[in-house]
Amino acid sequence: MSDQSRGDDWASLSLSEDEMRRLGYAVVDLIIAYHRSLGSQPLVNAPDCSAHSVDIQSSSPFPEVGQAPMQVLTKVKEAVLADMIHVSDPRFFGYIPSPGNFVGAMADALASGFNVFAGTASHCRGPTQVETACCRWLASLAGLPDTAGGTFVSGGSVANLTAVVLARHRILGDSIADARAYCSDQTHSSLDRAFRILGFGNNQLVRIPSDTDFRADPEALWSRLRTDRAAGLRPFLVIGNLGTTSTGAADPLGALAEIAVTENIWLHVDAAYGGGALLNPHKRAEFADVGRAHSVTMDQHKWFFQPIECASLLVRDMSWLHEFFHATPSYLKDSAAAEEGINYRDHGIQLTRGFRALKLWMSLQTFGVQAFAAAVEHGLRMAEEAESLLRARPGWSIISPATLGIVSFRFEMVGLGELALDRLNESINRALVSEGKAFTTTTELRGRKVLRLCTINPRMELRHIRQTIGRLDAIARQLTNPH
Ligand SMILES: *Cc1c(COP(=O)(O)O)cnc(C)c1O
Repeated sequence: MSDQSRGDDWASLSLSEDEMRRLGYAVVDLIIAYHRSLGSQPLVNAPDCSAHSVDIQSSSPFPEVGQAPMQVLTKVKEAVLADMIHVSDPRFFGYIPSPGNFVGAMADALASGFNVFAGTASHCRGPTQVETACCRWLASLAGLPDTAGGTFVSGGSVANLTAVVLARHRILGDSIADARAYCSDQTHSSLDRAFRILGFGNNQLVRIPSDTDFRADPEALWSRLRTDRAAGLRPFLVIGNLGTTSTGAADPLGALAEIAVTENIWLHVDAAYGGGALLNPHKRAEFADVGRAHSVTMDQHKWFFQPIECASLLVRDMSWLHEFFHATPSYLKDSAAAEEGINYRDHGIQLTRGFRALKLWMSLQTFGVQAFAAAVEHGLRMAEEAESLLRARPGWSIISPATLGIVSFRFEMVGLGELALDRLNESINRALVSEGKAFTTTTELRGRKVLRLCTINPRMELRHIRQTIGRLDAIARQLTNPH
């Protein structure tokens, strides 16, 4: 650190303009080089990273006296950022990938560099308008009415939690005794966690077995609900999925909406994953019933291609969020008047909150909606390509065909029992991942271990899929016939 920037003021946490520029440009160069390396660098950690992590976790991890920022950046590059999985890589097929885009990353830098407090409309008009524009656009994609709005949150987990809070408040009057909510057995674990956080017992979220296509079975769900009601329990919420994490399945949302209307309960749609599919006009028509929900979760850090921590909870009436979350203690009265727009600090859990909407807004402005729609279309097609490549190879069974960008499959062999097949497919997955040239994860469907590919990364090319399926096939044959 230069004498000039530090002067006598040892406490000043600042750099000279030159140093800021050097650090800032170096960070940008690093990000650009990283983006260029996607698709070719090893997906598993370099073996020498473990030496560095010893250093990071040592008993005196921070120096008393500072060092040159470039020196710190080098350490970050070599010891920290080199020791992680690369979820934007086109060969990352695991879980639900988060294929971020560069403009979104720069938006994060701006939100952080300007240290935007996106909580109060009167003190933060521009960012408030951006967030409102994004929420309105997402709500209209979902087909929600003009009264709808939403709020940006860290992820689908917090969005789902917030939705259950609203349903509990508006349907149950906040008293949870004997309350019951209903969903399919394919519903994401973040909802179990939301129920646990809110103090519900683990029998209060009722998971009903899904049908052969892993979709919610409305008849079974309704009949359970009626039985529960007759027994004096209090049904308050039905949860539908638009894109389950394991198979991409979409529940029959129209039938679920009928149940919600007839039973006078809340309909929440978890579109954390599948929400991006609404960019496709055919899918938007197919899933028009999303618009009948009371609340919808959408992760922008999945199929809207934003860097991690970008998601939204949309509600059919924006006043519901305010009614539950508003709080105006004495120290916040100066900025309480909302005539300038929405005070987002009064529409969710966070008071001090960052400007997450900027990444979506800037990348939509830059690339245009059509580019996003084309990227989603590409992801849908890639999963279909993967399915036909797998069908063409003997030994591979499709367990769930290409659905919203996910295909699930398994290597099967006559003479092997279910348990042995589970172990075999797990071993195939482990062997593939250890090669560092593709990353896949397994899931369980009807109690059986299966492999899956989630193909939503727009950087993904057919060759990435061909190579990965080729390797899976070679590994499977090697493991089952080692000679
Ligand atoms: C990813 C996912 C979630 C959780 O979202 P996070 O952003 O990881 O918190 C919830 N539901 C579904 C269907 C998901 O795919």
